[in-house]
Amino acid sequence: MGLIVMKFGGSSVANAERVRNVASIIIDSYKKGNDVVAVVSAQGDTTDDLIEKAAEINPKASKREMDSLLSAGEQMSSALLAMAIEAEGYPVVSLLGWQAGFKTDNVHGSARIKTVQPERLKNEIGKRNIVIVAGFQGLNSFDDITTLGRGGSDTSAVAIAAALHADRCQIYTDVEGVYTADPRKIGNAKKLAEITYDEMLELATLGAQVLNNRSVEMAKKYNVEVEVLSSLKRVPGTIVKEVAKMEKMLIRGVTKDTDVARISVIGVPNTPGIAFKLFAKLAAKNINVDIILQSVGRNDTKDITFTVAKANGELAVSIIKESFDLADESIICDTSVAKISVVGAGMETHPGTASKMFEALYEKDINIQMISTSEIKISVLIDIEQADKAVAAVHKAFFPED
Ligand code: ADP
Ligand code: ASP
Ligand code: MG
Repeated sequence: MGLIVMKFGGSSVANAERVRNVASIIIDSYKKGNDVVAVVSAQGDTTDDLIEKAAEINPKASKREMDSLLSAGEQMSSALLAMAIEAEGYPVVSLLGWQAGFKTDNVHGSARIKTVQPERLKNEIGKRNIVIVAGFQGLNSFDDITTLGRGGSDTSAVAIAAALHADRCQIYTDVEGVYTADPRKIGNAKKLAEITYDEMLELATLGAQVLNNRSVEMAKKYNVEVEVLSSLKRVPGTIVKEVAKMEKMLIRGVTKDTDVARISVIGVPNTPGIAFKLFAKLAAKNINVDIILQSVGRNDTKDITFTVAKANGELAVSIIKESFDLADESIICDTSVAKISVVGAGMETHPGTASKMFEALYEKDINIQMISTSEIKISVLIDIEQADKAVAAVHKAFFPED
């Protein structure tokens, strides 16, 4: 018996039958004597549909109004889930983000949670109510609704688990846990019994959408043990925690990220301070730069290539045009690229990892455009058309079919 925070993603509540299924998971736990707070995402593709609706009316809608609109998806699903629990005769209350005490910063569209003021939640739990919370949303210092960025309900759940010192935080989704690659794409991807926060953070940041990366950051910060598991099949999932058993394997997963643009700046002066000038201007506009490659200077010039998120590609190009006296054709933005990564702690002590990955790509005739490494991952940038083939080849190299 204890306090359990559960989170159910969009596909877990996509239709009436799925909502009833989720209600039964919650009720089963409540009947065992647990207190349950369940965070819920918008049903199915609701968030995408709302984004499309907005674009029909005003493609340049303000982020404030977008947040007001998108938060409605979770308002609907939380009320519907509460109704399903009511129908079974159990005491339940649904709360929107602001009612559940979520205070965020003012960055509409990707707000960060500042605090969760837990009084109302505690009060409802004290009355033995099942509490359903609309995920993905909060209130900023102007009392305006904010949203936490795509996939943000995971973070809502971890934040509640931290604020209430919950005994468990369960993230229910449409797969059975965290796998060595996306199990929908790679048939023999293996489910991990455990994974560390740092490894999960890399997987999530590098494209494994099963957990939102901010939720993992928060879980690590507040030491919340998270279990990722299926809402459709009641089997053990994956535990995300500080120290995990290695299960013999060094590599934990292979990921694909297609939200990448590669920007090449050709022929900048080969003098000190150029990289500083370039990246300081990008940083001033909050543009995050990922992989950076600079050529060796020749004939008094050098080339700098780097990657940014797709949404920042155009802005980055216009900043460079303003900052350097270069012909338009010297600044190239290529959005047809993908980043493939292998993730696993302890890589620096296993020198064969990079060559194994590169060999797998070579065997499929896949050209590597850029490489970046750290002690926990190796990433390569390749043509987006070859991304799925690359993930399959690299996964097979590290996890041969058994
Ligand atoms: P939810 O709606 O429950 O938040 P998401 O769609 O955000 O679910 O995340 C679950 C999906 O993440 C899975 O359906 C799966 O296709 C995808 N995924 C990508 N990489 C992985 C991985 N390494 N392990 C598990 N799932 C993954
Ligand atoms: N409904 C939001 C989204 O689609 C939040 C979430 O699913 O976590 O991104
Ligand atoms: Mg998600």
